[in-house]
Order: sequence, then structure tokens, then C-alpha cells
Amino acid sequence: MGKHDEKKAIGFVGAHMDDIELACAGVVQRLVQEELEAMVLVISVDPKRTDANKRSSELLGYKLLLGDISEAEIEIATVQQIVYEKLVRPFGPRLDLVFLHVPEDYNHHHRLVSAGSLSACRGVKNVLYFAGPGGIPHLRPQVFVPFGEREMQKKMEAMEILRQAYGQARYFTKEHCRDQAAFWGQWIFEFQERPKAPKVTLFGEEQMPYAEVFQVERLRLSFDRGKTTLF
Ligand SMILES: [Zn+2]
Repeated sequence: MGKHDEKKAIGFVGAHMDDIELACAGVVQRLVQEELEAMVLVISVDPKRTDANKRSSELLGYKLLLGDISEAEIEIATVQQIVYEKLVRPFGPRLDLVFLHVPEDYNHHHRLVSAGSLSACRGVKNVLYFAGPGGIPHLRPQVFVPFGEREMQKKMEAMEILRQAYGQARYFTKEHCRDQAAFWGQWIFEFQERPKAPKVTLFGEEQMPYAEVFQVERLRLSFDRGKTTLF
């Protein structure tokens, strides 16, 4: 088995074509920069428009996996099977961390996809939740991933590709996404300035203008070499 085969793989599961770009495009790019393999599984797809998803995946550097059902066909058992067949079984123990919809999301399909995915990923060591617009009121930010202007530009570009193909939710625009990430980027910096505040960040502690935030379902920390890391 070569070095490449042993590379850790990180999975993202979204109900719709743009869920991961909205909530995770920054962390996806940081993982790819760390030479980890990032895979995005989109559960419900419109086969006529998947070109846009392919272009976004090339831009952000992730591997695109597509479910084969429509939004109306989303059910927990179906999702569980898709996640198992496309993500859990092929990548086996290399699959070290998965990002899933926060379970209490207002969006019915997000909730079903979260439940089915969590069940399929019961053997995966690390599970974090992300939130799209309908999940934000329920997400308790516990893990912060900072990222820079270059990553934000690509995130905006990816969202624009998807907006042109699929249209955009009127209540959550690219600009909202940018402002939200800018808020969390600033918040981490201010928070870390407080001497007694605990901090868990991925990928170092330098100040960056943006951050995406996640909630922990389960997380294994490593304390090797005096440095606390996720993996
Ligand atoms: Zn969605």
C-alpha cells in the first residue's frame, strides 16, 4: 500500500447541491492544502445540472460524490444506504472525520440526511456538524476553522457557479456568507486574546479574516509533540 492510499480522508455530506459550499467551502480548501483528501457527497441531485457541481469541486479541490435520488425521495434509510455505499465502505478506516448537517436543522431534508448519515458513519471516529441557513439557530459553535481572503474568493466563486445553475435562496446570499465568516474570524481573535479562554482551532492560530464554525458530535484529540490537533 502506497503513501497515497494511506492518506486520511474527510467526508462531507449535504442534502442539496450547495449545502457544503455555503457552510464548509473554507474548511474544504484548508483540508486540501493539508494534503488530506476531501470528499463531498451530495445526496439529492438534478442530473441535468451536475456540471456546475463538477466545476465547483475542481475549483475547491474536493472529490465529488453524487447520490442518485431526488429531494422528494430523501428518507433516513435511503440516505443511510447511500452514505454507506458511496463514502463509508469505499474509504474504510481512512475515513477519519465527517461533517454532517446539524440534526435540529429547520429544513426537513437536512434533518433526514443528518440522521441517515450519522447512522451510516457510526464507526467514524470524528463527527462535526455544520449549519446552513436553517441550521444556524441550532448550531453551537465549538470548533473554529480560520481561513483567508484567497479561500474566501474561491468560496464566493463556487457559490456563484452554483447560483447560476440552480438559483439562490433569497434569504441567504453570498454576501451573508462572507459577513458571517468575517464575524467568526474576528470573534475567534478577540476570544483568544482573553487569557483564560479555552481554544480549539484547526490549522494553527494565526489571525485570519474569516472562519467557519462547527459543533461537535464526537471528536478525538491528539496531544502528540506538544501540539493539540484534531487528527
Ligand atoms: Zn440544503
